[in-house]
Amino acid sequence: MRADSNPCYESPMPNDDAGALAETAVTKARAMEPLIVIGLWWSEREPYWPRPQSFVDPNWDEQERQTVLAYLESGTINRAYMGFSPCRFCGANNGALEFTDGVYAWPEGLAHYIQEHALRLPAEVVAHAIARIEGLEARARDDTWWRSLGDVDGE
Ligand SMILES: [Zn+2]
Repeated sequence: MRADSNPCYESPMPNDDAGALAETAVTKARAMEPLIVIGLWWSEREPYWPRPQSFVDPNWDEQERQTVLAYLESGTINRAYMGFSPCRFCGANNGALEFTDGVYAWPEGLAHYIQEHALRLPAEVVAHAIARIEGLEARARDDTWWRSLGDVDGE
């Protein structure tokens, strides 16, 4: 994406330059960190991944499961893998896309394992997802910049 196509760089708000610059620095710093890969599973071709069977926990709190599912399904598409991934349990086509939230990267099919085969993700991933969602819900909202782009005459 070109920087000049990003509205953050052209904000008409006064005294916004420092904030925009700081945000850019944070974005650049984060961009240097590798995405943490999760949700890839053992196969004969890739025997170095963990086996999904060891992640099964039918007693996982249902509300927490649904929260994590919603989080995984709201990721940004990051890339497409070469070829589709079959489910290690039922053989279903689990898609070929990778999602990310800027911290973790996971295959499209990870949600299927959680929904259909009772997989429970490691506690640190669950805590991350819940913290992100709760953090966003708690954030204040600033609509002044978008309002400033409106037609003041109401036409
Ligand atoms: Zn399956």
